[in-house]
Amino acid sequence: MNNLARLLKAASFAAKKHIDQKRKGDSASPYINHPLEVANLLANKGSIEDTNILIAAILHDTIEDTGATKEEITEIFGEKVCGYVLEVTDDKSLPKQERKQKQIEHAPHLSTGAKQVKLGDKISNITDVANNPPAGWSRERKIEYVEWGERVVAGLRGVNAGLENYFDETVRRARAKFE
Ligand code: NDP
Ligand code: ZN
Repeated sequence: MNNLARLLKAASFAAKKHIDQKRKGDSASPYINHPLEVANLLANKGSIEDTNILIAAILHDTIEDTGATKEEITEIFGEKVCGYVLEVTDDKSLPKQERKQKQIEHAPHLSTGAKQVKLGDKISNITDVANNPPAGWSRERKIEYVEWGERVVAGLRGVNAGLENYFDETVRRARAKFE
């Protein structure tokens, strides 16, 4: 299968897996908008051309948030893609605060591909927290989320200047909005 065909297969696979899910913001946009935006950021802000990384971006929340399994992802998209997705998948059996702490601790040890997916994920989520925040989040909670994102991203730096600069710009814009 050629790269474009694999990429479109991933978009279609993720759309089906996330079919019933919405983002937490007031506009309750379809969940698939988020992984597609992460892949778009990697390609157009991070100049990433490696199809396995772009596919992993599209699939990054499928194991964590849908019934997708590592076996089916490996079978359809290969071990490299599945490896990246697993690297960015939280262990949902752990309490939330522990999961959040682990993201900070694990960030420096991720592969370069997974670090870039995570950078795109944090850019997309902080953009949403600023422009379309989860219902009921106070200003303090939004600020805490941005601060946590910065702590995770501190451990991801040195892999993609385009994405890192765009992350910094996104944080600046979010903070300006909270003032
Ligand atoms: P959550 O994990 O509950 O929510 C954020 C996650 O939801 C994102 O990482 C994203 O994950 C997903 N998501 C879905 N829709 C949106 C959207 N529209 N905007 C942004 N994210 C969306 O948040 P936390 O529990 O991490 O809370 C943030 C901070 O607030 C923490 O530091 C926590 O300690 C603190 N907190 C503060 C409270 C307070 O009242 N002050 C109460 C509870 C927590 P994905 O990419 O996987 O979709
Ligand atoms: Zn995500």
